[in-house]
Amino acid sequence: MTIAQKEIEKFETSDCNQDKVFYQALEEAIYSIAPLLESDERYTRYAILERLVVPDRIIKFKVVWLDDNQNIMVNTGYRVQFNNALGPYKGGLRFHPSVNEGILKFLGFEQILKNSLTGLPIGGGKGGSDFDPKGKSDFEIMKFCSAFMTELHKYIGPRMDVPAGDIGVGAREIGYLFGEYKKITSSYEGVLTGKPYMFGGSFMRPEATGYGLIYFTQTMLEMENQESLEGKICIVSGAGNVALHAIEKLLQIGAIPVSCSDSKGTIHDPRGVNLELLKELKEEKRVSLEEYINTHKEAKYIPVSEYPEGGHAVWDIPCYAAFPCATQNELTEIDAQNLISNGCVSVSEGANMPSTPEAIEAFLSHKICFAPAKAANAGGVAVSEFEMSQNAGMTKWSFEKVDEKLKDVMQQICKRVSLTAKDYGVEGNYVDGANIAGFKRVADAMIAEGV
Ligand code: NDP
Repeated sequence: MTIAQKEIEKFETSDCNQDKVFYQALEEAIYSIAPLLESDERYTRYAILERLVVPDRIIKFKVVWLDDNQNIMVNTGYRVQFNNALGPYKGGLRFHPSVNEGILKFLGFEQILKNSLTGLPIGGGKGGSDFDPKGKSDFEIMKFCSAFMTELHKYIGPRMDVPAGDIGVGAREIGYLFGEYKKITSSYEGVLTGKPYMFGGSFMRPEATGYGLIYFTQTMLEMENQESLEGKICIVSGAGNVALHAIEKLLQIGAIPVSCSDSKGTIHDPRGVNLELLKELKEEKRVSLEEYINTHKEAKYIPVSEYPEGGHAVWDIPCYAAFPCATQNELTEIDAQNLISNGCVSVSEGANMPSTPEAIEAFLSHKICFAPAKAANAGGVAVSEFEMSQNAGMTKWSFEKVDEKLKDVMQQICKRVSLTAKDYGVEGNYVDGANIAGFKRVADAMIAEGV
């Protein structure tokens, strides 16, 4: 029995196995880090894995708020403080009806390794609520955020735990959360990142994950001796923060992003998507993508209902590079086979764990350049850490300075991942490289800090 199988066995009957997505993330990481565990018995002796897979604490609370018709609404709030060996807990808040403890544990676990990979002093955490922001008025969003913070403020702080945004939580929500924190504590401090620029936000935080994803991909393609993205057809899924800024950067560098999607359907615009229109529909009007074709008749809208189970329209479009930027497990084995047979050269994950294990296996066995989320989408958390630094020093960095630092972090992560893969005998495998490099830094800190 290999060391990975032995480790997996320990968790098969434990709590971890009850949360499907958490177990999925865990299993991938354990198989990846097996060569590291083989090469250094300290990690087993210090029971690093057993300690790493259990969050330091999970805070679960009730959120009661009034809707616009004065109905009393009740939701559940969470904060999973996973590991702070490298710095304060750091990770986003997700507001989506699907949110539960298992999803937040998977996201929090990924966040530990991702934050470690940035080389910055940040630990891992995640939080959120099953609150659905869709269709809510601005006042309802504000009231929910205030009620959520009434409880959350007890557990966070600039040196303790610094949440940010994720699905359903953007600058608007962070603004309301920050306002309430300030009201309760009378303290103006960098307790949240992703704040609007006018009161402590960093330049480029909104752009960071999407731009960072493209910087990572450019470096990876160069290192793997592939052609650059310039002039190439690219496909992107999602139409939120990460997707829109990935599309923006692709357009800036002369690539041709031809798709985007939301939970109801996919847009395929062969001439290249119109970013201005997308931002208007998704950021201002907050409506379905279907409206895109009202003004762009040459584009095609494919509703989710028209697609066979297990496959997604967006991954059927021939492309040079693909960027899943919507949600977990949105790219299945069928989708991977479609991408491969259509000649796709590179897949970079903007969303967290968007590819299923079978899809990843297909990419790796076909030698597709595959950039896993914990490395490729780390730009958001990196700029969040820059925001923490600016807040701590009561200073502001220019757009150019943040952009330059972001580019540098993404290039460093890419090189570290590639080098680690080579050092551990799995050259070109960025999944293993990212897991090993991310795990090693946290594990070494845990050993140094004692039990
Ligand atoms: P947003 O809420 O801004 O956008 C999410 C987008 O994905 C929406 O357009 C949503 O459509 C779409 N979507 C959701 N579910 C599906 C689905 N099943 N099929 C197709 N589209 C879907 O979130 P973000 O852009 O912030 O986050 C996207 C992903 O990136 C998440 O996995 C998140 O964890 C990850 N991430 C985000 C970071 C950030 O800085 N924001 C940092 C690192 C990772 P609809 O509007 O219809 O719901």
